[in-house]
Amino acid sequence: MITMRGKSCYGGIARGVISFYRRDDVLINKMKVSDPGREWERYVMAKSAAVDELKEIHEKAAAEVGEGDAEIFYIHQLIVEDSQYEKQIKEAILERSCNAEYAVAKTAQDLAAMMRNAESDYIKERAADVLDVSERIIRQLQNREHNEFSLNEISIVCADDILPSETIMLDKSMVAAFCTKGGSTNSHTAILARTLNIPALIGMGDVRFDELEGRYAIVDGYDGILYVEPDDMTVRKLKQREDEEARKHDLLMRLKGRRNVTRDGKEFEVLANIGSLNDLNSAIENDAGGIGLLRTEFLYLQREDFPQEEELFYNYRRVVEEMKGKRVVIRTLDIGGDKSADYFMLEKEANPALGMRAVRLCLRRQDIFKTQLRALLRASAYGKLAILIPMVIDVDEVYRVKDIIHKVKDELVSRKIPFSDDVELGVMIETPAAVMICDLLAKEVDFFSIGTNDLEQFTLAIDRQNPCYESVVPPNHLAVLRMIKLVCDNAHAQGKKVCLCGEMGADLSLTEILLDMHVDALSVAPPQILPVRRMIRSLNLSDRRQIHNNIQRVLHY
Ligand code: PEP
Ligand code: MG
Repeated sequence: MITMRGKSCYGGIARGVISFYRRDDVLINKMKVSDPGREWERYVMAKSAAVDELKEIHEKAAAEVGEGDAEIFYIHQLIVEDSQYEKQIKEAILERSCNAEYAVAKTAQDLAAMMRNAESDYIKERAADVLDVSERIIRQLQNREHNEFSLNEISIVCADDILPSETIMLDKSMVAAFCTKGGSTNSHTAILARTLNIPALIGMGDVRFDELEGRYAIVDGYDGILYVEPDDMTVRKLKQREDEEARKHDLLMRLKGRRNVTRDGKEFEVLANIGSLNDLNSAIENDAGGIGLLRTEFLYLQREDFPQEEELFYNYRRVVEEMKGKRVVIRTLDIGGDKSADYFMLEKEANPALGMRAVRLCLRRQDIFKTQLRALLRASAYGKLAILIPMVIDVDEVYRVKDIIHKVKDELVSRKIPFSDDVELGVMIETPAAVMICDLLAKEVDFFSIGTNDLEQFTLAIDRQNPCYESVVPPNHLAVLRMIKLVCDNAHAQGKKVCLCGEMGADLSLTEILLDMHVDALSVAPPQILPVRRMIRSLNLSDRRQIHNNIQRVLHY
């Protein structure tokens, strides 16, 4: 038995024979051409054939894995059309008289190397896509067919790396699992594997998969292990693990699809807080009633420049599509404070948490804000999307945000770009100021989301990052609980709903009091969803005596 470890992208146990995915290596020589003009024409024709091919694959992928995951092949088309990419190829051909194959290969290698060094994981992962599309163009230039790789039995497909377009072309009924030497959990191949419910191990390091070809193996997608020719004990152990996971899964499943009603019949929503596409699967697996908070700033962090509208749109659209009609609340940029990126060139502030952050920054840097709003509105055409504005302290901020949204909508209409005319606008209630004017805010917006993490820090005047926080701040301070009650009452007086999306929402000792104050929804980290649901189902809010006792205990007064 040989045991190899990798990083698991998707759980599950899979069995099959190892099939090594060989990419037909292409030898490309550098040549000087006598007629660069003609060579450029050759490139243009190959490029157009590659785009046609990509359109076809896009259609096939959309039918197999849905429009969201098929989007990558649209991105490939965008890479081919990218002006920087084409400029480098053009220079190599027309100015240095290089042959088109070499010009494409060299440009792709240079760009991919640059992208792999980028700080942003998103950009790093696009390096494989640049190589993928470039190979497509080179194949066209050389009149070569795509590598035919067919599977005759249920297989564990092993590869040095496998590209998204290659994944999509495989006969999935024959693929039990994927194992790759390289790759990252956020790569599109990993995303596709997850969508297709196929266990996948990546980053397996320096393995000679070719030498293992044809041998029986089992992939343990829970612990990230590939067992080649497993011994009897391992086979039994994995079978046990499989049964155990199935049992756990069954218990979890029992709560899925069931209403979140208390014993006395009151219904509440339990939603997911997510920071990126990576958390989406977990939200879905845990049967989130929707996304209560998508913190968008993470896409702006750890990178060297602003994300383009296309990248934002792609991300937002995927979330709304994957939530399949369930409501997705996307918060606009809450950058500044503890989340900052150099390229924003923000001035140094003595107290960044109290500084030029969130909606204040967006109102000052409207170019950044409009790009995000355009991406959000465009994504709204693909599902049920609501926009949430962070750190609001004044009704005037809401008026100004509405005005900008209005302008962005006008612009989209004139460019004939679709968006939903039913996008709700909400505000975060996370400053004492917002609490005190929540009656006025409730008239202007469609919903509230209470951010207790910030609300506690600003109400209790203690930095939420301060290590002394827990020892200084009494838990569940009455001031904050009273604020929550005030916000719920004022929102309901205007017929508006209230979600609570701070960490407090996952504190099971508070579920009863929060629901008793009529919070309509709790939005928590995905793994907390089912425990909160279980708690809701155990409560009886009509038992006033019991509630009174519990509230006394919680509030310490
Ligand atoms: C909050 O402040 O409670 C909140 C949900 O937002 P964040 O934690 O992102 O500041
Ligand atoms: Mg906050």
